[in-house]
Amino acid sequence: MEIYNTLSKKVENFKALKEGLVTMYTCGPTVYNYVHIGNLRTFIFYDMVKRAFKFNDYKVKHVMNITDVDDKTIKGAIESRVSLKEYTELYTKYFMEDLEKLNVDMDIKFTKATDNIDEMQKIIAKLLKEGYAYEAEDGIYFSVSKFKDYGKLSGMKVNGDYSRIKTDEYDKDNAADFALWKYWDTNDGKVHWEGKLKKGRPGWHIECSAMSMKYLGKTIDIHCGAVDLIFPHHENEIAQSESYSKQKFVDYWLHGEHLLVNNQKMSKSLNNFYTLRDLEKQGFNPLSFRLMVIDSHYRNKLDFNFENLRKYEKLLGKIDLSIKALNKTKKYDEKEDSYSRIQTKQKVDNELQAFKEAVNNDLNTHEALQHFLSLLDLADEKTEKGKIDNKEFSALSNAISKMNGFLGVYIDYEIPQEMIALAEEREKKRKDKDFVAADLLRQRISENGYFIADLPNTFVITKKYLD
Ligand SMILES: [Zn+2]
Repeated sequence: MEIYNTLSKKVENFKALKEGLVTMYTCGPTVYNYVHIGNLRTFIFYDMVKRAFKFNDYKVKHVMNITDVDDKTIKGAIESRVSLKEYTELYTKYFMEDLEKLNVDMDIKFTKATDNIDEMQKIIAKLLKEGYAYEAEDGIYFSVSKFKDYGKLSGMKVNGDYSRIKTDEYDKDNAADFALWKYWDTNDGKVHWEGKLKKGRPGWHIECSAMSMKYLGKTIDIHCGAVDLIFPHHENEIAQSESYSKQKFVDYWLHGEHLLVNNQKMSKSLNNFYTLRDLEKQGFNPLSFRLMVIDSHYRNKLDFNFENLRKYEKLLGKIDLSIKALNKTKKYDEKEDSYSRIQTKQKVDNELQAFKEAVNNDLNTHEALQHFLSLLDLADEKTEKGKIDNKEFSALSNAISKMNGFLGVYIDYEIPQEMIALAEEREKKRKDKDFVAADLLRQRISENGYFIADLPNTFVITKKYLD
C-alpha cells in the first residue's frame, strides 16, 4: 500500500511495525456542539484509511479520543448551566449517531480525555523533572526550544522569539511554548483535577499524546487528522511524546483536506454552516454525503453545494436499485462455461484488480468508485435480461460486496411487510391491466417513502431518494 506521509512529504510504501497489524490513532471531536459536515468529511477520511488496511487484510487497532475538557467545552457547559459531563455526553451521543448514519466502521476504541487524566499527569511530571517543561504562575508549559526536532512535521522554525500560550487556539504563524497543564482559575468553574500536579486541568495537545501512547504504545503506525491540525496540534504532540518516550511517536502522519461550501470557508457568519441534520432536514440520505466525500481525493479540497449533493443522492439511489435488482433477478444453471460466463468472470477479475490498485494508490477513492459502478452496470445488463447464471451471479455479487466493504456506500435494510403487500397487490392489478389501480398503489408506496421499480417478470422496492 502506498500512502502520503506528511512527515516525509512523500508517497511511501507502507510497512507496519508488527506484521499484519496496524495501530492507528485519529484525533477525535471536541464535543461542545454538533459537528459540521467539514468535520464529518475528516471522520469519513479516517474510515477510508482504516477500511483500506482491512481491505488489505490487516487487523487494525483504532483509537479515537473524545475531547471532553478544553476551553470550549468548559465555556459551553457553564453557559448552559449544566455539568461538564452532562454537556459533553450529550454532544458525544449526537456525534456517535452521525458516525452510524454515515456507515462509519465503529470498530473503534473511543476514549474520553477526562478518563485519562492520571496518564497525562504522569507524562507532564516526567517532562517537568527532565527539564522539557517548566512551571509558570498560571500553569506548566512545554519549552519548544528544548526539543531539537521541533518543526519536523510542519516546517515551523523555532527562532527564539516565541511566546507562551495558554489557550487552546493560538496564532498559527509562530512556534510558542504551550500549556501542558493549566492551573485552575475562576473561568474553569468546578472543572479541575489534582494528584501529581497542582489543581488544574490538561491542555488540549497532551490529551492526544497520552491516549495514543497509553492505548496503542509509544510508537504507532498511523496518526490521522485534518490539515489544520498539522500545526500546532500534531507538532506539539510529537514534541511532548518524543521528549517523554525517547522514541519515534508516529511512523505515518496522514492529513485530510478541508471541505468548502460554494468555494468558501464554512462559518456561522456566512450562514453556510451545515450539520448532517441540516442535510437530512432537506430530505437527503446521509450516505449521499459519504458518497460525495469518497468521490474526491482526501488530499484535495472538496467543494460542497446542494446541487452537487443531489447528484450523489441520485447515484446512491441507483446503487441501491442495481444491487437489490441483481439479487432479485432469476437465477439458473448453465451446464458448462458459456461465453457469457467466461466474459463476466474476466470483467469481474479485471475490475476487482483495478479497484485494489486504486485503493492502494494513496487511497484513490474516486477511481475505486468508478470500478464499483462499472460492475453495477454489468449487473444492470444481467437484470435487464431477466435471468442470470448462478456462477456469474456469485462472481458479481461477491466482488460488489468486497468493494462495498471498502466504500461502505450500500447498507442492506428491511422493507416493511406492509409495503411488500402493497407492491404485490399492484403487481396483480398490472397483470389484470387495471393500470389506474396499479398507479394509485404505486403512489401509496411512494407516500410511505419507498420506491417501486419494475423488472422483467418481477419488481423491486427500495427507499425513496430525492431526484
Ligand atoms: Zn489530537
